[in-house]
Amino acid sequence: MKPQDQAHITRFAPSPNGRLHLGHAYSALMAQKLAGSGSFILRIEDIDLGRRRRHFIDAIYDDLAWLGLSWPTPVMIQSDRFDIYKTALNKLRDLDVVYPCWASRADIRDYINVQAGGREAWPIDPDGAAIYPGLYKDISPAKRDAMMWEGGSYAWRLDSEKAAALARVKNGSLTYFEASQQESIEIIPSLYGDVILARKDIPTSYHLSVVVDDAAQDISLVTRGMDLQGATHIHRVLQILLEYPEPDYYHHDLVREADGRRLSKRAGDIGIEYYRGQGYRPEQLIEELLPSLTL
Ligand code: GLU
Repeated sequence: MKPQDQAHITRFAPSPNGRLHLGHAYSALMAQKLAGSGSFILRIEDIDLGRRRRHFIDAIYDDLAWLGLSWPTPVMIQSDRFDIYKTALNKLRDLDVVYPCWASRADIRDYINVQAGGREAWPIDPDGAAIYPGLYKDISPAKRDAMMWEGGSYAWRLDSEKAAALARVKNGSLTYFEASQQESIEIIPSLYGDVILARKDIPTSYHLSVVVDDAAQDISLVTRGMDLQGATHIHRVLQILLEYPEPDYYHHDLVREADGRRLSKRAGDIGIEYYRGQGYRPEQLIEELLPSLTL
């Protein structure tokens, strides 16, 4: 049975840091299609308070409605939910699978540069970033306490190996189901290393809030681009530790430029706005510019 032959709750969860482009249109339409006779939900992921803009939220609603999509309201807005993320973080603290880390980006870079082989030889995550070297991971509880009282800025990092080991004990296995391939995938705990789950001033990060909200909205099929497939190795561990139900995942192909380059807001790719201005009709845009939405 194909995923869309079942009723799913799917979602599209854009960050209002720019206008939507063709890749977003594809992702949203895919999520709606995969919902089958279930429901398609829109969620605004605006925890990056420095980059979010109110007018981009309005533009998201407008572009999606133009594409013919509809969704239940009120829309969940992540910046309204910091207290809820904090409760989830506290649960992870109680489980002792997170630790505070004071290292700045420069501290991490400097540390890696003086290791044998330097940056070139250092392990990287699927996004090409250096794996966190574990500074502050093994400091004594007394020193940790003293530093937390000092008031410096720190981030909460997931102890990825410990968290995965605990999740494995709790759940018996550690896999997620990839609906696009109809296969179960074994979680690799070290894929991203000890990621940041929250900061001192913002009690969440993408990884924590996405897991909390997919559970809060009963999402049964998380639909998103292939570029986030690696993150699922973190998300599945968090779901088990937070005792959330397990959704399936559908990581779809990314829309690419003719030269194979990925579309991105930052690279100034042509947005849906442009095509609307050119007089495109939504059906025409879908037919001419988006890869086949057949599953
Ligand atoms: N908010 C994320 C983004 O705009 C998507 C998160 C997700 O689909 O899990 O890239």
